[in-house]
Amino acid sequence: MTDKTWAEVDDYFTGALLAPDPVLDDALADSAAAGLPHIAVAPNQGKLLNLLARQAGARSILEIGTLGGYSTIWLARALPAGGKLVTCEYEPKHAEVARANLARAGFGEDVVEIKVGTALDTLPTLTGPFDFVFVDADKSNSANYVRAALELSRPGTTIVVDNVVRQGRVTDAASTDPDVVGVREMVDLLAAEPRLDATAVQTVGSKGHDGFVLALVR
Ligand code: SAM
Repeated sequence: MTDKTWAEVDDYFTGALLAPDPVLDDALADSAAAGLPHIAVAPNQGKLLNLLARQAGARSILEIGTLGGYSTIWLARALPAGGKLVTCEYEPKHAEVARANLARAGFGEDVVEIKVGTALDTLPTLTGPFDFVFVDADKSNSANYVRAALELSRPGTTIVVDNVVRQGRVTDAASTDPDVVGVREMVDLLAAEPRLDATAVQTVGSKGHDGFVLALVR
């Protein structure tokens, strides 16, 4: 199988199972026009996040890594009336694009709050517990983000961490790549932390070979 086949399969399932969505398409288009990197989750992954958050009955969602707000919109759409999402973003320009994309999607600051700054500084200012956490920022800090997420959780909180496979490089114990080292530190934490029950699934698709962690707080 090739990357081309993986992308075609993603296109097939996305075309069959996801309704046309101009708001999400515009969010991606405006993010690209503003020069943001093309690193948002794929549509079928966004839908997976939405389904997982709904399955968890999430009324409060924390996201670490906003970019242009694409995954944020998917997650915010999972909230019931009165629900709230907080998303952490380091780059003011990314936050500005996300704010516009979220407003067009119908989410004002009363529903989605963007915390601008380095997440390790903004996370300690938040009040939990959150029902659902999506970690998708700098991978070198993955363990720190899971630790912070745990502090902002309750038993039953779902934690999803994206991009944990690094095209298979995650298996390289000798790697000095900070992202690989960061992901491996997080896996060690998941294995050692009695309050977390976790698995990891590798994926292929339009985003290449990658994968995610799904953890449940005990
Ligand atoms: N979740 C987004 C989506 O799927 O649409 C994609 C997020 S992108 C992979 C990662 C984002 O994390 C970038 O916008 C980047 O600026 C942000 N980021 C990187 N380091 C950060 C940090 N230390 N604190 C907060 N955000 C950070």
